[in-house]
Amino acid sequence: MDITQFNKLRARSFNEQKALLKKLAKGQTVLCQTCGQAIFLNVAVKEGEKATAQCAKGCTHIELDVA
Ligand SMILES: [Zn+2]
Repeated sequence: MDITQFNKLRARSFNEQKALLKKLAKGQTVLCQTCGQAIFLNVAVKEGEKATAQCAKGCTHIELDVA
């Protein structure tokens, strides 16, 4: 894979993650594209921990930079 294509893919997945988080923030249900289960938002409990969005099986696991 050449680097330009790689960067495009990264940018696309970043935008997809942003869109996903927007939906979760609104309380909408988002399903994992891999297992079809709902994705939950886990808020960080400790300082220095990152909030994550993940499905029950863990195939979708996104770390959030903004808690
Ligand atoms: Zn999943």
